[in-house]
Formats: sequence, C-alpha cells, structure tokens
Amino acid sequence: MDRADIPKKRCPYCNSEAKLDFAIWGRPYFRCGSCDLMYRGDLQVELKRDLFRHFEREYFSEYAHDQLSGSRNQIYTHILDVIEKETAVGRILDVGCGCGFFLKEAKDRGWNMEGVEPSKESVDYATILLGGNFVHAGTLQDFPALGEFDVVTLIDALGFSSTPWSDIERIRTLLKPGGLLFIRCSNSFLHAFLFKISIRLMMDSFVSELVVFHKYPLTPRFILRLLRDYGFSNVNIRNAKPSGGGLPLRFLKSAISIIANSLYYLSRRRIIIGPSLEVMERKP
Ligand SMILES: [Zn+2]
Repeated sequence: MDRADIPKKRCPYCNSEAKLDFAIWGRPYFRCGSCDLMYRGDLQVELKRDLFRHFEREYFSEYAHDQLSGSRNQIYTHILDVIEKETAVGRILDVGCGCGFFLKEAKDRGWNMEGVEPSKESVDYATILLGGNFVHAGTLQDFPALGEFDVVTLIDALGFSSTPWSDIERIRTLLKPGGLLFIRCSNSFLHAFLFKISIRLMMDSFVSELVVFHKYPLTPRFILRLLRDYGFSNVNIRNAKPSGGGLPLRFLKSAISIIANSLYYLSRRRIIIGPSLEVMERKP
C-alpha cells in the first residue's frame, strides 16, 4: 500500500491524526501518532449501548471459561499480595469483575468488596460465589456508589471499555484521597510489534493465535498519558506476573517474563515489553 493510501482517522481521545496500523481477524486497528491510543476502527459508529448489550449477552460464553478453569486464580492472589503491600485491608471495587473470583479471594482476606460487571450471566455466577449481591450489573458510568473506596482494580477490563478515559475519570471520583488504582492489561505495544513482524515473516496465521487485541489495545505510552491527564502523576508501570496455562505455555511465558524483566531493570524501567502490564498509582 502506498503511504498516501493509508486510511486515516481522528483519534477519539486526543483528536490528533490516527493511521491504520494493522488488520487482524478482519478488524482494522488504528493508532494515534500523538497519544499512542490504538483502537478498532470499525466500531466508530457503535453506540455504548450496543457494546454493553454485546457484553450482556456474549461475554460469559466468550471469556468466562478462563476464569472458571481456575487458571487466573494465581493472578488474583498475586494482585492482592501486591495491593496489600501498599495499603491496609479496607474497601475494594473490582471493575469488570467477571464471575467474581478476584472478589472471592478479597472477601476471604477480609476486604469489604464490591464489583461492577455488564455480563448478566457473570453477575449471576458472582452472586452465588460471593453469597450475596455484591456485584452491580451494568457499567461504571451507572454504578451507584455510596462513599469512597480504598482500592479500585481493573483486571484485564480497561481495553474492553467503550471509553477508557471516562472510566478513569469516574474511578478518580470513586477513590478516597490517597486511594490506590490498580490496572492489569495486555501490553499491546508487544502484541502489535510481534504481529506486524509475523506478517513480514508470513507467520501471521500462527502468531494471530497468541496475540490479544480488544477494542482498545493499550500500550504503556498511552496508559501513562491517560493517567497523567486525569491527575495520576507518579504512575508505576511494569511487566505483569505471567498468567497460568498448560505446561509448555507456562514455560514460554516464564522465559519471556525473565527476558522482559531483565530489559526493564537494565533500561531503568523505561523498556516494558512483557506480554501484560501492571499499573499502580495513588490518587493524590
Ligand atoms: Zn490520540
């Protein structure tokens, strides 16, 4: 494709010019040259309500198997260990809490917990798992919070949001002063890099099975920009602990994690190439 023919759009976050970066599974992904936001370019006309309905109906069948298999439990334990090193046990909100396994672990550790989740089947599951109505069915925008939270978590949820910046703005109002925001998400800088290399090597059909791209594939650069724009000025962003899976996959993830962490520390925390990211910051 000639450079002049590359489709362009306006970035939905900062309104700078965004260009088509790559296409996968029939979906075009655009990337903003200014703030580094990546987004699905075929969903521009989609209403928030449509996205909400999609999650209401499809999320459980598409994504819940990962949670139900127990393969994510070690991630939840790790996240609570990290949080509890930073802050005392108190009131926690998990946004996009799915079937409630993270909240169950938090409850068992004595946290006063609540969740928000658009998928009705996931909310029903979480209600049974948690032994009560601790999960609000809906989105963060219509979550009727009373009081403020010590901790708000977004565990592999922000990239699914209809507008991640609205969620960060809302979370800022839900956190106590000094309250902790914790985000885990895929590192789309790495996933996009690997996928684009694989196209050149004609290995894209294999690599497309391994990479993850949601509505907003999040890069470290965009996350830093977004959080700073909403007043989180001292953001701690690093490679996440690898998730579970079968033995060969776990071995591969551990090897990648060792390489990524070595580069992270050698570059004085500037190069972040792990498959997933962990972001932590206190509300001023
Ligand atoms: Zn932008």
